[in-house]
Amino acid sequence: MTGVLTLSAADIHPDREAALGYQGIAPGTAVPQHIDDLYDTALELLLHTVEPMAVVSEISREEFAAVYEGAGRNDPVTPVGDIFPHADYLALFAVTLGEHVSEAIGRCFTSNEFATGSMLDAAASVAADTAADAIERRVAAVLQADGRATPDTGVLRYSPGYCGWHVSGQRKLFDYLRPERIGLQLGASYLMQPLKSVSGVVIAAPKKVHGFAPSYEFCRRCETRSCRERIRALLAR
Ligand code: SF4
Repeated sequence: MTGVLTLSAADIHPDREAALGYQGIAPGTAVPQHIDDLYDTALELLLHTVEPMAVVSEISREEFAAVYEGAGRNDPVTPVGDIFPHADYLALFAVTLGEHVSEAIGRCFTSNEFATGSMLDAAASVAADTAADAIERRVAAVLQADGRATPDTGVLRYSPGYCGWHVSGQRKLFDYLRPERIGLQLGASYLMQPLKSVSGVVIAAPKKVHGFAPSYEFCRRCETRSCRERIRALLAR
């Protein structure tokens, strides 16, 4: 699976509770009407400004080893480093919501609409992750359709900047994937422009290989433990 992909509004539609979670509101919390209204305004702005695009490129284990090595700044032992040698299939990806969303967020702040800007920023962050999830599902669907994935295959995405894969790894990922094709640039500090973008690798491997324990050295400093829910969901499929 290689090429430029377009995404639908459904592919990026953010989960409301996740977006409110970015604002410090716990899931299931009843919120006042003005917060609901604020979220509705932010969602409308998001859906009017979003221009989601993605690029995906299959990559061999050997080629990915060189991409993953990056600038040599990864932690010595990481989930991706442990998992990718067992991969049946790998694909680099980058997905962006486009520049207009970031411009809309900026306009909110320059016009002193801080609450709207902050809610839009949160909704857009969740939407970018949702778009990356859609890419993960598309890769899985292609592999299932052509018989390269079985019920025992787990397809999960991982990104530089997380879980021991140093953010400087973005440079080699960009060199291979060339997401400039969809308007994505890499800044000096490895931040992507447009900001609401996600890049990484989708790894198809036996499910049990993805089922790692959070016992890496850096896990002691992890506040989200976000891998646990992803792994639970994968093993339950
Ligand atoms: S516990 Fe945190 S740092 Fe460790 S693998 Fe999971 S998400 Fe990554």
